[in-house]
Amino acid sequence: MVKLKIANLDGKPEIFHSIQGEGKNMGQPSVFIRTSLCNLHCIWCDTDYTWNWEKTRFTHVKDADPTYTKYKMDDMIISLTLEEIYAEVAKTGCKNIVLTGGEPMMQLQGISALMEYFNTKADDYFFEIETNGTLLPDATFEALIDQYNVSPKLENSNNPKKLREKPEVYQYFATNEKAVFKFVIASENDLTEVLTICKNYQIPNEKVYLMPEGTNPEALKQKQQWLIEVCKKYQFHYTDRLHVHIYGDKRGV
Ligand code: SF4
Repeated sequence: MVKLKIANLDGKPEIFHSIQGEGKNMGQPSVFIRTSLCNLHCIWCDTDYTWNWEKTRFTHVKDADPTYTKYKMDDMIISLTLEEIYAEVAKTGCKNIVLTGGEPMMQLQGISALMEYFNTKADDYFFEIETNGTLLPDATFEALIDQYNVSPKLENSNNPKKLREKPEVYQYFATNEKAVFKFVIASENDLTEVLTICKNYQIPNEKVYLMPEGTNPEALKQKQQWLIEVCKKYQFHYTDRLHVHIYGDKRGV
């Protein structure tokens, strides 16, 4: 029986109805399915409850907080069958599904099975996936998915370059019509890195969305004007973080 590992939010699977806050479909009512597990370990990750398990060596900015402890893996994962996930999603009536994480492509076969299962229930589901751009899909997955939101991680994530930058994966998505790229920008250095990535992998500018870094509206506003000027200069898209303006730094909304 196929099961997917879903993040545990206070004893319930983190599956919630909200709006897409970022990127190409910003503003679209969506159901988010937050899978557990990630193959990267970004130092500022705001979903570290999907990977930062006790007895691992990964560092995180929250390590400076004396009340912060790593997570017990068994406590943070709920394994659900496809039927159970569908039952949660069907309650909302929403057909735009955002597969997020963690890194959902770590459960590629399970997610393919999930999309196939949903398609047996209705033919108008739209599936978008948030991925860090380090893993390639297979042909089955490629045929089922509607949109890839590829979010490559930069040097500021503290992941070694050989882990976060996989040339064959960037090349695959650069020429994939379903893929857009979303970069979180905190500084000029980040922008320089993004320009280098776009040049090296020939990512067309119209596929690129730049998003200010920040987990509260004030932090986003500080970078907004500068980043919009950058987007005008390079013909990139600007994307906000709508959910941060509406809900702040909160889980499950
Ligand atoms: S890739 Fe995403 S989920 Fe994984 S550690 Fe980085 S920010 Fe967190």
